[in-house]
Amino acid sequence: MTQVGEMIRQMYINGKWVEAKSGKTFKVINPATGETVAELPDGGAEDARLAINTAHEAFKSWSRVSPVERSRSLEKAFKLMTERRDELAKLITLENGKPFEEAKKEVAFGAGYFDWFAGEARRVYGDVIPSPAGSRRFWMIRQPVGVVAAITPWNFPATMITRKIAPALAAGCTVVLKPAEQTPLTALAITKILHDVGLPPGVLNVVTTLYPEEIGKEFLRNPLVRKIGFTGSTEVGKLLMRGAADQLKRVSFELGGNAPFIIFEDADFDAAVDGAVGMKYLRVAGQSCICANRIYVQESIAERFTKAYVEKVKGIKVGHGFEPGVVIGPLINKDTLEKVDRLVQDAVKKGAKVATGGGRLKEAAFAKGYFYAPTVLTNVTEEMGVTREEIFGPVAPILTFRTEGEVIERANNTNYGLASYVFTKDLGRVFRITEALEYGLVGVNDAAGYGHETPFGGFKESGLGREGGKEGIEEYTEAKSIVVNLPQ
Ligand code: NAP
Repeated sequence: MTQVGEMIRQMYINGKWVEAKSGKTFKVINPATGETVAELPDGGAEDARLAINTAHEAFKSWSRVSPVERSRSLEKAFKLMTERRDELAKLITLENGKPFEEAKKEVAFGAGYFDWFAGEARRVYGDVIPSPAGSRRFWMIRQPVGVVAAITPWNFPATMITRKIAPALAAGCTVVLKPAEQTPLTALAITKILHDVGLPPGVLNVVTTLYPEEIGKEFLRNPLVRKIGFTGSTEVGKLLMRGAADQLKRVSFELGGNAPFIIFEDADFDAAVDGAVGMKYLRVAGQSCICANRIYVQESIAERFTKAYVEKVKGIKVGHGFEPGVVIGPLINKDTLEKVDRLVQDAVKKGAKVATGGGRLKEAAFAKGYFYAPTVLTNVTEEMGVTREEIFGPVAPILTFRTEGEVIERANNTNYGLASYVFTKDLGRVFRITEALEYGLVGVNDAAGYGHETPFGGFKESGLGREGGKEGIEEYTEAKSIVVNLPQ
């Protein structure tokens, strides 16, 4: 197995590395080989409770630390995470499977949230509001919401964490983090960075577990938790929202997607082909919430596009993440592999044609991992599950359309609303379509996704609230209005 420097195998509560109270552990598995990477504490409600109490105590002082000082801690975390990029990337490749080069980019991007929110920590502005009566004065200040319970997924093991904890810490909140059971090692390595930069005990706590429901329930029923920050499936998001209703806890949700990728006949053809390859296959093997889920190509260029696209997809190298030149690794687990295959086989049964790929990779090198062949489906219709569900794998369904109005309607015909993409050179269309698409992100002639500076989040069932941008830190604050009656 590839050697990594330091691998932390304990949870983090009140500034100390600890085992689960129950003494139980669970295994972290390498999805490329099926080998055990590490054994970690299998925390439960009692551990979560301890972490919440600790975070509550720490909030009393952390919320009063000056914004400049909080900003300095985040700046240091940015520097250290940047220095430890390769070490973290190795952990990501081991536990998540994504290629090492891709993992390095993720760590750099994830570290960028510490950098961005180090700046934002100093800009949590309030407002002075003109009062209608001469004897009164109004102003508004923003204050940290309190203890935040953060729950994150495995597909971006670094970024999904920094995108939550950086704004929370910047705002003056304290955090209890429950990372995904598949990728806790990256979470603990990021926690070590914050420990090493001297974050006070209790400000950040991490509970690892194989049974998220138990910890989730504690987060929901414990009144000391004021906010739930969740990234994951829409299904679990809804469940948490129902649970949060009892105490009206604040929630921010980044959930699933079903991104349309629309290519008009006037588009820069090569850029559109490359963009559609990148946004489908080169982000965690298609296991990203903003990955292209439906590729709509205008009828007049559909044949030419499909030929060029399939050619490129056939050239994609699949393999173990540490192998040079590999751009697609394994899927995260057996369930995901089976779901992807079920969607492909269902589409084929309903009339789709497999232009390339179409099944699990079975050669010896892939035998113990969860590898799926990069797949392109043509002859696809919206009656097929592959266009309605989030695929979360390296499968591109190609659909054709005739007019702008038609494709807008079809693109919006989903309960999701996270990311969408349009390739066109027509300026008028850029305005019309970006305004008409019901998505939190519209990429025009761009398949690189969002940046630290932009608010990111979903319409409809893709989420609530925004991460990143200037909006990201507001999610961790409450607005307090102060009304003063002047002595006469
Ligand atoms: P998931 O099953 O919803 O899990 C996400 C997190 O929630 C994990 O930490 C998981 O723990 C935890 N969890 C599961 N059930 C829970 C419960 N009952 N109570 C409390 N926590 C619970 O999603 P996933 O399959 O890991 O991630 C993929 C999904 O995330 C996709 O739908 C994707 O689109 C979405 N996603 C969205 C964004 C975005 O920014 N919008 C970004 C990335 C991913 P365990 O790991 O222990 O199961």
